[in-house]
Amino acid sequence: MEPVLEVRNLVTHYHTPRGPVKAVEEVSFQLLPGQRYGLIGESGSGKSTIAYSLLRLIRPPGKVEAGEVLLDGVDLLTLSDEEMRQVRLAEMSLISQGAMNSLNPVIRIRRQMQDGFDSHGVDLSDEERDRRIEQLLTWVGLPAGVADMYPHQLSGGMKQRVCIAIAVSLRPKVIIADEPTSALDVVVQRRVMQTLRHVQEEIGAAVILIGHDMGLMAQFADAIGVMYAGKLVEESPVAELFTRPQHPYTQLLMESLPSLDQKESFQGVTGAPPSLLNPPSGCVFHPRCPYVMERCRVEVPLLQVTGDNHRAACHLLDEAPVPSAAAQEATR
Ligand code: SF4
Repeated sequence: MEPVLEVRNLVTHYHTPRGPVKAVEEVSFQLLPGQRYGLIGESGSGKSTIAYSLLRLIRPPGKVEAGEVLLDGVDLLTLSDEEMRQVRLAEMSLISQGAMNSLNPVIRIRRQMQDGFDSHGVDLSDEERDRRIEQLLTWVGLPAGVADMYPHQLSGGMKQRVCIAIAVSLRPKVIIADEPTSALDVVVQRRVMQTLRHVQEEIGAAVILIGHDMGLMAQFADAIGVMYAGKLVEESPVAELFTRPQHPYTQLLMESLPSLDQKESFQGVTGAPPSLLNPPSGCVFHPRCPYVMERCRVEVPLLQVTGDNHRAACHLLDEAPVPSAAAQEATR
């Protein structure tokens, strides 16, 4: 199957008086039609910058420096501004972190949903347009009457569903969901994610889900890419990543997940993420890595295939199989 989206060697920097902040460095991945791809990593690892780079929404001092973003074979980075405006929403849409706050509180939902059709020149009669809006609201589990309400009359979860309805209104091929439930409580989060999954399957769109909630990722994604300091350090089908993580950072993330029977204190990944103004030499994870070797401080590890659709960037892969921290503990 041909990928619907192919990102090749994407580089995005933010230019500051102190030098470029290397937010995304040589990131490559692809999405198959209908696939759900999770991008995880700590805050500042470059996940949202990737989302905004794909949609060409990076504003100065940020700049996409290099790479290709191929949507059905067309490089979005080469399109004119007007061509790109047409791509947004119709071909690739965004549900951002605070999407629900983007709704105008004093304009009825119907009018706000209609804007997407109007701005993309979708020619519909008033009856057809109203039917489409009501169908979209039903898809996301809202009563059709919501169309005549104002955003301030809706709960946070309902507003986020309206944003999902807008995001799928022109049946895009790719939906980018950037922490779409971060402002919601856990019960509402679950319902909103179920809604996103339902509409994504309904229209056959691929989804990039950005976040740092591993539980949410495990339930939603087919495959996961792990970002660290602007780089993709591991990528794998979801079940494989949870059972056989290859990169030490991914292993530490997995081992830091709390379990129901855990009695000890919570263990996070020790140390702090590096400055992207002046990232560490060699492997960017080396200052925090429990397995650091001399070559890690000078040589950049390349992503290499470690299994079916599984890639990781670590020098240990050239040596023995990467031990997990838990396995190391057991042998002590
Ligand atoms: Fe750790 Fe070296 Fe692998 Fe980087 S390359 S993750 S420092 S072992």
